[in-house]
Amino acid sequence: MTTARTESAVDLPAMIEGIRRWVETESPSQNIAAVNRMVDLVGQDLAALGVPVERVTGGRGAADTVIARSPEAGDIPGILVLTHIDTVHPLGTLQRALPFRRDGDRLYGPGLYDMKGGAYLAFEAFRRVVRARSFRLPVVIMFTPDEELGSPSSRALIEREARRARYVLVTEPARDGGKIVTSRKGVGRFEVLATGVPAHSGSAHSRGHSAIREMARQILAIEGMTDPECGITTTVGMVSGGTAPNVIPQHCHITVDLRVRDAAAGEALAANIHALAPVDPAVTLTVTGGMNRPPFEKTPAIEGLFRHAQGLAREIGFALADVPMAGGGSDGNFTAALGVPTLDGLGIDGDGAHTEWEHGLVSSIEPRHRLMRRLFETLQ
Ligand SMILES: [Zn+2]
Repeated sequence: MTTARTESAVDLPAMIEGIRRWVETESPSQNIAAVNRMVDLVGQDLAALGVPVERVTGGRGAADTVIARSPEAGDIPGILVLTHIDTVHPLGTLQRALPFRRDGDRLYGPGLYDMKGGAYLAFEAFRRVVRARSFRLPVVIMFTPDEELGSPSSRALIEREARRARYVLVTEPARDGGKIVTSRKGVGRFEVLATGVPAHSGSAHSRGHSAIREMARQILAIEGMTDPECGITTTVGMVSGGTAPNVIPQHCHITVDLRVRDAAAGEALAANIHALAPVDPAVTLTVTGGMNRPPFEKTPAIEGLFRHAQGLAREIGFALADVPMAGGGSDGNFTAALGVPTLDGLGIDGDGAHTEWEHGLVSSIEPRHRLMRRLFETLQ
């Protein structure tokens, strides 16, 4: 028992120092060299544990992925931990707008909340259980480079590892005062291009067929598909078109973001978006895209995993709740859609993801690190 108590002590200053090292290695998703410097750092930290570490070269505009496995894992299905080490913050954010600093309970830094804080506390939990050999199931921890891009490179690896896993734990940030995530909407991405007939806006107005006017109608039709009661939202987030003030525009282009609660709604809405027809028959519409992240629905198995985590949190000394279905997608969408019980939002608590006031809460580090460790030690 004495050993267990000593082993469970958390060295908070050392954890904050570890988070600082990871946060100060800036890693915007698109900058492959920068993300690979972060991959080097994480790879070195993992190698120091003496566990098998695999580095998989990235593709599709993304950096490498690093995967570590608990020793003597064997072939039985275990726990897959998903954590992304890319951020949305461009290089130089650290110097310019968001230096690593502590202000009371708040720790500031680019990607600290989303999600290097969570990545580090999972790493530290993995380190502890590896050292104490206290894991029950094999633990595989995966650090991915491209979540903020929609995981174009790591998705296949995530799904490969998830198919072998009994549980998936995702260290995305906590929500609303420490709540975790047990369901997320599915995300679809589409592009619509309208092609009309250009003409001089003064001398030949009647000969033109405006792509922008057509698209204006389509935008209203698409936004009109939003149905809050059914959890469906559609957003035209970008518009471009036209060449000059005095030209009836030939082209207009938009992007559409779709969020749905379940796979059936995803299919139905994707079909509706692809079936958009022009009001002006002289304008053509081209629709591309589809569902990118499938919905992450709270199954009875996820409910059971959540209840187990709640029990562990109670033993540690805090109440764990989950949020209603989250609107934002994560890599947990991929694993939940494969039917693997997935808990998400297990990372650090804080606020301001993707902004220049992004911060994590120091007070959340220890309890959430302990929860991760206890999940490793008790899931079977
Ligand atoms: Zn994230």
